[in-house]
Amino acid sequence: MSSKPTVFVSGASGYIALHVVNELLSAGYKVIGSTRSDKKAAEVEKKFGNNPNLKTVIVPDIAEPGAFDHAFEEYGSEIKVVLHVASPFFFDTTEYEKDLLLPAVNGTKSILESVKKYAPQTVENVVVTSSLAAIVSPKRMAEPNALVTEKDWNDTTWEGAGADPVTAYCASKKFAEEAAWKFLEENKSIVKFRLITVNPGYVFGPQLSSDSVGDVLNTSCELINSIVHSKPGSEIQPISGPYIDVRDVAKAHLLAFEKEETFGKRLMLVEGAFSLQQVADIINEEFPQLKGNVATGEPGTGEELLNKSARYDPSKTKAILGFKLRNLKETVYDTVDQILKVEGRA
Ligand code: NAP
Repeated sequence: MSSKPTVFVSGASGYIALHVVNELLSAGYKVIGSTRSDKKAAEVEKKFGNNPNLKTVIVPDIAEPGAFDHAFEEYGSEIKVVLHVASPFFFDTTEYEKDLLLPAVNGTKSILESVKKYAPQTVENVVVTSSLAAIVSPKRMAEPNALVTEKDWNDTTWEGAGADPVTAYCASKKFAEEAAWKFLEENKSIVKFRLITVNPGYVFGPQLSSDSVGDVLNTSCELINSIVHSKPGSEIQPISGPYIDVRDVAKAHLLAFEKEETFGKRLMLVEGAFSLQQVADIINEEFPQLKGNVATGEPGTGEELLNKSARYDPSKTKAILGFKLRNLKETVYDTVDQILKVEGRA
């Protein structure tokens, strides 16, 4: 029996990427993961019990020209699949172009340039972890009559991205994904790969291992963590949007290159829509030790916010994926349960 091919995963130390690496190793793939430092590489390797099928390479900054060259020069001849997951996802900056837009766009171009240079005929599939943010702008997310499908594009301009950090992050994902499709169009006579993008909504669900649970979690899970650590009577932010569980996102990254129906497509990874009020309701209902000790907002009103926001139609992607996605209660429950176990409050 022939062994499974080697998959390159950028940003392997991140929240989603660790789940992706876990799925890949469990399915028998060999993995080469990039991290920013030796320290992070050692942490990642340790999480997988120093599995011989996992190698790491150091890419300190994806925004640097030629950032991935050394990795593809060394391993390009064996890499069949590239999963480009790394991209800045944080809001605590005022330098949107430097910290969000340029690393997202240049990182995407950079990894594709390295494929072109060192593995144009070896790499068969490239999956770019894009986002629902590339499909829809924050403004349109708040439009009650908007129906969002994978055909849509966030219409924020480069200049408009300077409005606030959330708008800037969303635009960084739009411009990065655009750059990937453009690269393939301009280089299709040179490279062999098919391009697929996965476009998840807000990703929730447990960290791959509990040693990643600190005071502050990754940007999306921090929305849940902040309610777990909120004070009774404090406000629940009027946030709503599409959601998906991280374990389903990881599975979808594999199907994205394993199933031919996905080639050339954008996979809109959305189970449904959520509001933070619904998350607070689940937390208060499911965890007696938190009930009344954390923010409650206005219980039962979460649906109303959804009626005032955009709707999402991920039916085409769901049909391609062909597996049942975890619902809001399960993803929120598992996120909170892990936090409480780590804090000795479960
Ligand atoms: P995360 O934990 O912050 O992961 C991001 C990864 O990218 C980290 O490994 C980070 O390394 C790396 N990275 C960022 N900027 C870099 C740079 N300039 N040079 C080198 N490495 C860099 O966040 P995540 O939620 O897993 O996000 C992973 C991907 O999914 C991103 O592309 C994000 O846009 C996308 N996404 C996330 C969500 C969500 O709700 N979580 C939804 C849709 C799409 P360090 O940690 O070492 O900085």
